[in-house]
Amino acid sequence: MILPPFKLYKPRNIDEALEVLEERGDEVVVFAGGTKIMLLMQWGMARPNYIMDIKSLGLNHVKYEDGKLTVEAGVTLNELIDNEVIREKFSLLHETIKSIADDIIRNKATLVGNIVDAAPYATAVPAFLLLNGKAVLRSKEGTREVGGLDFFVDIMKTAQKPNELVIAIQFDEIKGKAKFLDFKGDSLFAVVNVAAIKYSQGGHDLVKVAITGLTNKPVIVDFSDQYTESKGNVDAFLRKAREYIRSEYKTEVIADARASADYRLHVTSALVSRALEVVVHE
Ligand SMILES: Cc1cc2nc3c(=O)[nH]c(=O)nc-3n(C[C@H](O)[C@H](O)[C@H](O)COP(=O)(O)OP(=O)(O)OC[C@H]3O[C@@H](n4cnc5c(N)ncnc54)[C@H](O)[C@@H]3O)c2cc1C
Repeated sequence: MILPPFKLYKPRNIDEALEVLEERGDEVVVFAGGTKIMLLMQWGMARPNYIMDIKSLGLNHVKYEDGKLTVEAGVTLNELIDNEVIREKFSLLHETIKSIADDIIRNKATLVGNIVDAAPYATAVPAFLLLNGKAVLRSKEGTREVGGLDFFVDIMKTAQKPNELVIAIQFDEIKGKAKFLDFKGDSLFAVVNVAAIKYSQGGHDLVKVAITGLTNKPVIVDFSDQYTESKGNVDAFLRKAREYIRSEYKTEVIADARASADYRLHVTSALVSRALEVVVHE
């Protein structure tokens, strides 16, 4: 497969990269692991004039301090899978990352690329949402953070401005029980991704779910009140959760060649129920 021609920028540090974005941000496609970009170019769905490879910027660190995890933009998924802190303290993220693509792709693909891509099927976004994820965006004007659903504007569109680079993603350590589930069918990418978490805060049980692949934008559902009201009747709680997903998102659910709206809704409600069952199980 011959790729269409493009000009390659290979900045040696963050300042050089920000200079390129300042000048040509609208036309430049940032290349981290490149696994998604290359696919789009091979399929003829992207034809960028300029590509900026960010692998030489030194953004290869994973930092853990005071219950906060920072994953820089060059860190690959397999590096995260091998990271002891992530395995032990961020098990939801660990479980999620293992489900993205395969070992060969994960050797190149980055976590930041997965989240910034904001694809409807993005596997890591539910964990990002449940672990209070924040994108750290830098431009020549300075650094800002955008967290949670505010980061996702639409399908494959985030709050990132053309002159900004996402230099890292941050997560909070949340001590609780969590579960990730996805459904791929025979598709390359996941059709639906679901993460659930249960933890205590101020003496209350919080039970939340985050979903990608159901609607244009990722979804967070707070099931804490329903869980409290169920008073330990797990079957009733799970039934209500399934019904909620089916009724609340009925009109917004997306459909494509991989899954009709009805099928997607059915799979999502089943995955939500199964993930919740794991996290509320005493
Ligand atoms: C065979 C195959 C299977 C896959 N399976 C899955 C799957 O199961 N689940 C899933 O979610 N994805 C899947 N993907 C898609 C992709 O591999 C992942 O989303 C991957 O994590 C993307 O990371 P990357 O570093 O390769 O991103 P890139 O391809 O480098 O970039 C992706 C997008 O993010 C932008 N970007 C990347 N980094 C930055 C940054 N630091 N600042 C600003 N913009 C940035 C790029 O410009 C581009 O638009 C698959 C891909 C392939 C080829």
